[in-house]
Order: sequence, then structure tokens, then C-alpha cells
Amino acid sequence: MRADIVSIFPEYFSPLEVSLIGKARASGTLDVRLHQLRDWAHDVHKTVDDTPYGGGPGMVMKPEIWGAALDDIAGDGSPVLVVPTPSGRPFTQAMAQELAAEPWLVFACGRYEGIDSRVMVEYGRRMRVVEVSIGDYVLAGGEVAVLVMIEAIGRLLPGVLGNANSVVDDSFAPGAMENLLEGPVYTKPPVWREHAVPDVLLSGHHGKVARWRRDQALRRTVDNRPDLAARLTGLDKHDRALLD
Ligand code: SAM
Repeated sequence: MRADIVSIFPEYFSPLEVSLIGKARASGTLDVRLHQLRDWAHDVHKTVDDTPYGGGPGMVMKPEIWGAALDDIAGDGSPVLVVPTPSGRPFTQAMAQELAAEPWLVFACGRYEGIDSRVMVEYGRRMRVVEVSIGDYVLAGGEVAVLVMIEAIGRLLPGVLGNANSVVDDSFAPGAMENLLEGPVYTKPPVWREHAVPDVLLSGHHGKVARWRRDQALRRTVDNRPDLAARLTGLDKHDRALLD
């Protein structure tokens, strides 16, 4: 996958050099290209923003600068343009899966009050544009949102995770885990500061372990995310008894 990132702070993206994403880049699975938006601003101050029409506080990013940058980066190609904004569609595991199947993404990092809305309309004529929110809070810029998205998307690319089954067992994974959070996990030693690992996990009984894990996942989902629990389907009598 190719991922172009346009930002006035490309230095925000140094974490993409380490860990799983760093390895994915080194192996060629993920080709990340960083761009300084100001390189497309030609006045002496490299200005990328201006006052908002209609008044109000803050500044808005200028469409001509974004237009010049996106024209150069996309050329005649048709990447998916991903625009982080608190007013976008919620970023979910399902969206990460969908974007991981695309060969080319361009991320446009807003700052100030965001990017002039005509940019999304203009590029929506030529390519798919997705405005995406990573949560119901307001960040100072799109850079951290893009780091979140690239990490979630990047770990889904073929060969990036050591064990592909990790993705299947994750919280929100499509299928059995779609609306379930993962339950608690444990490693050695069997007892730490008087806290023992649940006996069932040491039993070697795969059926019982699977049932226990699902029960824990259900409990955690009901406790922490009642909104997800309300969407659970395919519950059997045992599950219902657990939830009552
Ligand atoms: N005035 C905007 C609003 O209320 O929707 C907020 C602009 S915010 C200060 C500046 C930039 O941060 C946005 O253009 C966007 O790129 C990014 N941003 C802030 N919160 C975000 C979120 N929850 N999800 C994705 N991007 C976000």
C-alpha cells in the first residue's frame, strides 16, 4: 500500500519509523511518503491559512494550496483521500479493514479550523473522499488522527503481524468478535503477588477455554460498552443468563 501524508508538521510522523509499521515500511509492504504542505505556498511567509468567511474565530486552510499539493501528489491517479475531522464518519475497525484493502491512500492533515470545504467537494469529483473522525473530542490537528489510522490500517496489511490470527481474536474483529471487546489476558507466572491466573486457562481444555473467553468478552462489553452490547446478535441461552 502507498500512503501519502500532507501536513504542515511532517515531523509528527517519526513514530512511523519504529515497531510494526517501521518494519512494514522497511519490507516494502507500506510505502509512506511525507509532504510539507507549505512547499506548495509561494508567498514569503509560506502562508497556508486565512480568515473564515462569515466571521468567527480562528483561521481556515486555503483551498489553492491544498489543490496544488493534491494535484501534484495524485497526478492522474485515483487514491482514496482521507481527511481527518471531528465532523467525519467514526473511524472503526470495519473502516480500517476497508481502507486496508485500498492500494493508495492520501491523508490530508487539517490544522486551525480545518480545510476549506470546497477542497473535499472538488476532489470528490475525481476520487473517493472520506472524512473521518477518530473520536468525539477535538485535537489540535489531523496528524495524531492519521497516526492512529495508519497504525490500525497498517497492522491489517498482509504479513505485517507475526501471527495473522491475532486480528481474528481482536476486539471488534469481523465475525464472532464484531461487537465484542476482548476479555482479560494472562501470561506466566501462574501466581503473581497472590493473584492467580484463572484455573480454566491452565486446564488444557480448549472448549472450556473458548467458552470462558467468550463469557469474559460478553461481561466486559456489557460493563464498558452497553452501546455495543445492545447490538449483539446470535446470543444463546447461556449468554442471556450471563447478561441478566
Ligand atoms: N473547528 C473544527 C470542528 O469543530 O470540527 C475543529 C478543528 S481542529 C482544532 C483542527 C484539525 O484537527 C481538524 O481539521 C482535523 O484535521 C483534526 N482533528 C481534530 N479533532 C479530530 C478528531 N476527533 N478526529 C479526526 N481529526 C481531528
